[in-house]
Formats: sequence, structure tokens, C-alpha cells
Amino acid sequence: MGERKTVLVSGASRGIGAAIAVDLAAAGYDIWLNYHSATAAAQAVAERVVAHGGRCTLLPFDVADAAAAEAALLPLLAETVPYALVHNAGVTRDGVLALMPREDWDRVLAVHLDGFFILARMLTKLMLGRREGRIVAIGSIAAETGQAGQVNYAAAKAGLIGAVKALARELGRRNILVNVVSPGLIDTEMIAGLPLEKILPLIPLGRVGRVEEVSGVVRFLLSDAAGYLTGQVIGVNGGMHM
Ligand code: NDP
Repeated sequence: MGERKTVLVSGASRGIGAAIAVDLAAAGYDIWLNYHSATAAAQAVAERVVAHGGRCTLLPFDVADAAAAEAALLPLLAETVPYALVHNAGVTRDGVLALMPREDWDRVLAVHLDGFFILARMLTKLMLGRREGRIVAIGSIAAETGQAGQVNYAAAKAGLIGAVKALARELGRRNILVNVVSPGLIDTEMIAGLPLEKILPLIPLGRVGRVEEVSGVVRFLLSDAAGYLTGQVIGVNGGMHM
């Protein structure tokens, strides 16, 4: 058996991130499980990771806080270079732009974009020396189609697409592959309260997606089979708005 590979998954205490952590553990990876504050939920995910044969290190910090990220990660990075980063942490602060408080704009951009910058910069420095690695950012269909009430979120997710496409070019020669997985509507706490009866008719598959239908695509992107795939945005959206 070869060396076990480690993956840092941000925002993995619930929802899509938790499914990614469990799915990757089942595929043989060890997990560095980041979350912000939901410790009990993160511990429950860690138990599932371990049950699937992975080792799990819990890393509570705000991905938008560079000092906190460094304090948590630098000691680990001195020992282990992760094979992959999955930047999944995300928040919404919905509201029409005309009434949007500046903090809601700043926070949403910070979690998605500063978080990507902070984590990807720290890890790529080390991945470069290994000449292999995978980076996946979780985007959103909102970046590609726009969504009323989500100017901040759509801007942040569209920013991730640009960042990923540029980074894919930067790192290609070092065999580090960088992609976006762009979900449509997935059954997590993030979509609680949305008027599903209005949205479902817009989805050709006629249903919301399951978290495993996103994590499976991430698992594929980390696999050898995806070795020639970089700079892409992979929609996982039931055929919505294509
Ligand atoms: P959830 O709200 O269910 O979970 C969000 C996760 O992100 C939690 O683990 C949360 O941790 C963590 N998180 C939030 N802010 C931070 C932060 N500052 N630092 C570290 N961790 C943080 O979201 P989903 O699972 O639904 O979404 C996951 C990703 O998928 C997001 O990027 C989202 O934008 C994207 N997405 C989701 C869609 C959907 O329909 N659900 C559709 C398209 C994209 P804690 O619990 O500790 O706060």
C-alpha cells in the first residue's frame, strides 16, 4: 500500500463539505477537517471519517482569517503536505443590493475569496515541490446565471471561477490540477426556506441534488482518472439553466 494522501476540506462540519470528507475517507484519504464553530457537528463528521478508515484532524478556524488559518495549519504542514485542497466553506447573506449592508458584501467575499487565497497560497507553496496536487473550489450556479438577492454571493463565486482558471494555468506545468465544482440546488441547510415549489420546475431532473452527488464529483476530480482535467467548471445542477 502506498503513502496515504491527505486532503484539507474547508467548511466540512455539515452539508456538502461533510459529504466530501466522508466520501474521500471512503476513497482512502486522510482528512484535515476545517469548520468555523459547529464543533459537535464536526466531531460527528470526524467519527464517520474514521469509520470509513480515514484519519481525521479537526481544524476549527475562520477561513477568512489568515492568522487563524496559519496558526492551525503551519504546524501540520511542517509534517505533511496535503495532496489536495477542497475549498468548500461558504456563507450566504442574501438581500437586494440597494439595501445590502457593506458587512454582508465584505463577509461573503471574504469567506469565499479570501478563504481561497489564504488556503490555496499556503498549500500550493508546498505542493509545488511535490509536483502533484489537486485543488477544487466549490462554486455555485449563481455565479454562472446570476440570482436576484445574491449579488454578493454570485460575485464571490464568479471570482472563484476566475481565480481557478488563472491558477490552473499557473500550476499546470507542476502537475497541480485546479477546478471548480459548481452545484445547483443541493439539499443542505443552506437552501432551507427557499420556495422549492417555484424552483423545482426549473430543474430538468425535477428534484434538488443530494450532497453525495456533489462529493462523488469531487472524489473523481481527485482521482487518477481526472489527470487531464484542469481549469474547468463542472456543473452539478440537474440540468438547470444550461
Ligand atoms: P452549509 O451552510 O450547510 O455548510 C457550510 C459549511 O461551511 C459549514 O461547515 C460551516 O461551518 C462552514 N463555514 C461557513 N463559514 C465558514 C468560515 N468562515 N470558515 C470555515 N468554515 C466556514 O452549506 P452547504 O453545504 O450547502 O454549502 C457548501 C458549499 O457549497 C458552499 O460553498 C456553498 O456556497 C456551495 N453551494 C451550495 C449549494 C446548495 O444548494 N446547498 C448550491 C451551490 C453552492 P460551521 O458549521 O462551523 O459554521
